[in-house]
Amino acid sequence: MLVKMAAAGICGSDLHLLDAPGNVFPFDPPFTLGHENAGYVSRVGAGVTRFSEGEPVLAASTSSCGYCEQCRLGWDNYCLDSVSVESRMMTMRVRGIGFDGGLAEYVTVPERELVHLGTLSPSVAAPLADAGATSYHAVRTVLADLRPGATAVVIGAGGLGSYAIQYLRLLSPARVIAVDRSLARRNYVRELGADLTVAAGEKAREEILDVCNGAHAVLDFCGAEDTLKLAGDIVKPRGAVVVPGIAFGTLPFGWGGDSAQRPVQSVSGFYSQRSCRSGPAGRAGQDTGGCGCL
Ligand SMILES: [Zn+2]
Ligand SMILES: [Zn+2]
Repeated sequence: MLVKMAAAGICGSDLHLLDAPGNVFPFDPPFTLGHENAGYVSRVGAGVTRFSEGEPVLAASTSSCGYCEQCRLGWDNYCLDSVSVESRMMTMRVRGIGFDGGLAEYVTVPERELVHLGTLSPSVAAPLADAGATSYHAVRTVLADLRPGATAVVIGAGGLGSYAIQYLRLLSPARVIAVDRSLARRNYVRELGADLTVAAGEKAREEILDVCNGAHAVLDFCGAEDTLKLAGDIVKPRGAVVVPGIAFGTLPFGWGGDSAQRPVQSVSGFYSQRSCRSGPAGRAGQDTGGCGCL
């Protein structure tokens, strides 16, 4: 399908890509950036049945085979065609990260990677392809743990974090705590439904544990060393840590050393709906659906 572009979101990952040294990513430039793409169907290819010319559409940010075990389970962002146990997430195929994306007049997209927008304007909907989908997947991972009385903590109240806060508000009965350095962002997400906001920093752990006996779910949209430490410190035994943020921090996980103190049942991360459960206590994981951008 040929799509005439109407809007392409720019996210933090694009800026990282522009500045990244040549050997960091497993794909070679040049390619056109733009992984939050929406527009209008310009030309319909042979065999296409679900779309017609002129229709507004959103392009999935990830490209997947549609046939493998992961795709058939609806986890296209872990398509085994591009993501293996060995490669982890680094070879995931994202339109605009590794092959041509939508910062162009036109983009070609397979039929199965397009979504009908109906009455939504492409220029409004474009960020849903990544920022909206990534945060949605992250929230969906933990919904079963968020019963009435539960606490969810969102670290990083930027673009993705503010989506996550809205999803949590709409989809779960949990109390939502947002952590961010910026007072303006904290005030903004209060308007979006966060019950409590906490300034990032040394006192964040104490302030959060003052109001709850550990978080049932922590969604870290930064993924830095200090934010992951906070996530590990505040997660409740059998809680979940989800890490869409890709600031290359680490969270010790398992028995021994620092991690013996960490009550984590599962951790999931970048682009992921994967979670691993272990030990007597908590959990940590990654879940996104888009580029994993901040
Ligand atoms: Zn697949
Ligand atoms: Zn992104």
